[in-house]
Amino acid sequence: MKAAQLLTSSASPNPAVDPRPSTIAVDGPAASGKSTLGGTLARRLGYLYFDTGVMYRAVTWAALTRSVPTDDEAAVTALAERLHIEVEPPTVEDGRQYTVLADGVDVTWLIRTPEVDAHVSTVSAYPGVRRAMVAQQRRVAAAGRIVMVGRDIGTVVLPDADLKLYVDASVEERARRRWLEVQERGEEADYDDVLASMRHRDEVDSHREVSPLRVAKDAVVLNTTALDIEGVLDRAERLVEERGCPVD
Ligand code: C5P
Repeated sequence: MKAAQLLTSSASPNPAVDPRPSTIAVDGPAASGKSTLGGTLARRLGYLYFDTGVMYRAVTWAALTRSVPTDDEAAVTALAERLHIEVEPPTVEDGRQYTVLADGVDVTWLIRTPEVDAHVSTVSAYPGVRRAMVAQQRRVAAAGRIVMVGRDIGTVVLPDADLKLYVDASVEERARRRWLEVQERGEEADYDDVLASMRHRDEVDSHREVSPLRVAKDAVVLNTTALDIEGVLDRAERLVEERGCPVD
């Protein structure tokens, strides 16, 4: 896992002189707005932005393209343990926030297909897959000054995060956003199919035995159903200020 290149540090990392929360966990269901919030917050703070969902998606993509049945837990786990995932600054100007490489292949958009959406929850529920991913995520976060986005960041990956946000929105609104995103990429999508896939993913992510999607007890919940991104960012930035010095 090579993520340090994403670091766009500008302020001092010394906590004695920089009282801002150094580790910020952002969790929430699919298309809740957590990636937009996390990415923008990280840019404004000069922190590393790390979207952990890409790792589970990369493993799912690799299983699908290498004919590893996603219901074969042992085979998928072995694949997760050996797959080399790299997250780098964008290498192509096509609207991407970062470039994701899986064993050297640029999978940035390939991991966003409905097929990956349909299988990623099965793959990410396997304890061995999670163990492999969480170990890498903790190594990336160890240096601090990071906004890490996912499902279990505040509850499992970084239980001692300095600030925990949980971003939520109604399933209908989230499906609408995902449907628009798919269309903007020029792909065909049926709203009802997107909604059904999202409900399925919510169900599996929230009820799996290992690290289910939960609001950490010390997380602040931000509901984005009615709030636009600026409104959510305002609230998040106020929370950062309350825990330290103001955002530039
Ligand atoms: O955030 P995103 O929708 O890209 O995540 C894809 C899937 O990866 C989620 O539906 C979930 O199954 C899994 N995931 C997870 N834990 C994380 C991040 C993502 O289980 N920390």
